[in-house]
Amino acid sequence: MTLIIAMDGPSGSGKSSAAKGVARRLGYRYLDTGAMYRAITWWMLEQGVDVEDAAAVAARTGEVRIEMSTDPDAPGISVDGRDVSGPIRGQAVTGAVSAVSRVPEVRAFLVAAQREIMADGGIVAEGRDIGTVVAPDAPVKVFLTASEEARALRRAREIADPAVSVEATLADQARRDRLDSTRTASPLTKADDAVEIDSTELGLDEVVDAVVRLVKERAATG
Ligand code: C5P
Repeated sequence: MTLIIAMDGPSGSGKSSAAKGVARRLGYRYLDTGAMYRAITWWMLEQGVDVEDAAAVAARTGEVRIEMSTDPDAPGISVDGRDVSGPIRGQAVTGAVSAVSRVPEVRAFLVAAQREIMADGGIVAEGRDIGTVVAPDAPVKVFLTASEEARALRRAREIADPAVSVEATLADQARRDRLDSTRTASPLTKADDAVEIDSTELGLDEVVDAVVRLVKERAATG
């Protein structure tokens, strides 16, 4: 089996853990496209580019050199040879990433890179637009959701910083969801043929089980 599995959904829906779990279970590769948008945002901030200035961001996009590991057990990312796995999760990048990811030139640049990585199949790709734009022909598409509270709680646990309250995480997440869902270029939206899984009441293993079941069904029906 060398399928492409598309997993989309809002922040905190549990996509990353679920996508990695599915990849491990099936012996597939794993692609975190959100990390690529974060990496390009990190680079823009590092270069002093005004991220609210779409033309300035577009003009510099082609210069960014991103390298990714697709091993679900060691998912690293580097920019110009520098490992940025830590810095891309920081507050500065999280606050700026939605502004950068709405720029069409950024999306075209990263979508081309993502398609190249996904070309051989056997990969679980997670993001916001995998099932709608990056891989519209993917045989398995999942749209993962969870209640706003459950998502904020998970994010707050991930951040694990007592200075950042659940309320602040909730506000930041709502802001990012709004920007990601209302932008003109590839907004966050469920593909018509995606299977929606609500993970509010589910454990990680249950979500992974549900996705693996879909993959097996799809493989059996060809
Ligand atoms: O998944 P994660 O929260 O790391 O994504 C960070 C940001 O990257 C999202 O808020 C969104 O703005 C952008 N993104 C995107 N398209 C994707 C993946 C992420 O626009 N396929």
